[in-house]
Amino acid sequence: MQPHTTGETDGGRTGEHTPGLHHVTAISSAPQATADFYTEVLGLRLVKRTVNFDDPTTYHLYFGDEVGSPGTILTFFPFERARPGTVGRGQASATAFTVPEDSLEYWLERFETLEVDHDDPHERFGETVVPFRDHDGQPLELVTGESDVEPWPDGAVDTAHALRGFHGVTLDSLEPVATATVLETLGYEARESEGERTRFVAAGDRASVVDLLERPRGERGTQGAGTVHHVAFRTADDERQQAWRERLTDIGLGVTPQRDRQYFRSIYAREPGGILLEIATDGPGFDRDESVDDLGTALKVPPGLEDERDRLAERLPDLEVATPAEVER
Ligand code: ZN
Repeated sequence: MQPHTTGETDGGRTGEHTPGLHHVTAISSAPQATADFYTEVLGLRLVKRTVNFDDPTTYHLYFGDEVGSPGTILTFFPFERARPGTVGRGQASATAFTVPEDSLEYWLERFETLEVDHDDPHERFGETVVPFRDHDGQPLELVTGESDVEPWPDGAVDTAHALRGFHGVTLDSLEPVATATVLETLGYEARESEGERTRFVAAGDRASVVDLLERPRGERGTQGAGTVHHVAFRTADDERQQAWRERLTDIGLGVTPQRDRQYFRSIYAREPGGILLEIATDGPGFDRDESVDDLGTALKVPPGLEDERDRLAERLPDLEVATPAEVER
């Protein structure tokens, strides 16, 4: 067994704070286009192909580093004929990846060559940011900085320039004051503000940033392809998760009972600003039902659906993902 996480300080074991994001889950359109963009353009690894546990006739695809470490995982519910959503208030409005400072030129050239919709670099809180959009228009960012994430050496992107997990997310809250209280309850600290944006930082060495927007006149977002469905924060284990459940309940949030997501265990709460939050355990990890070498190569279904596996597989659209040996750099 490979370790599920690498280079952790304490993985949130103190229970006093979350170290940062566990994963971000978004809605996309075609599964194949989704896999092509995230593996071939961004160089992430498809670490799991499974079904949406709440709607097993559709895929749930997980992309991340080599093993799908917490803080690197972007997941999708792809619906072939999904209606496009609009990004706005009440949503997580951008997901940012960390890249090394001297990799920006590489990425800008890559975006030009591969015709990725992107903006010019600009400065934000002393870091350089390159906003870009995926095939469904979902807002993403590259942000220069440090991270303890080791890049996957077999991905489509040169290892020196590969994404180093999440930098963080931007939340476009309907109730920024209340959302700030939730973030502070989770252990985030407000650091500084630039215009309508306030930066909150958690204690971890990756995926530790949440920027909170205050845009009272902004348009409200609508859910659909190209929008974020929910944002998940890390916790070390069930006991710490239960403590978070109590603390979030204490500040007035309605928190679900624990749900077994096979690769982690989760609780969910809609915060007052409209954004669906999750707290997910670091383990057991994506290698619980296939080896690290085989991650993402076969359709996996949860134990309760094992009998229906073949029928489900037949109904799902084909999905071809290049193996490391086939990848063109
Ligand atoms: Zn989730």
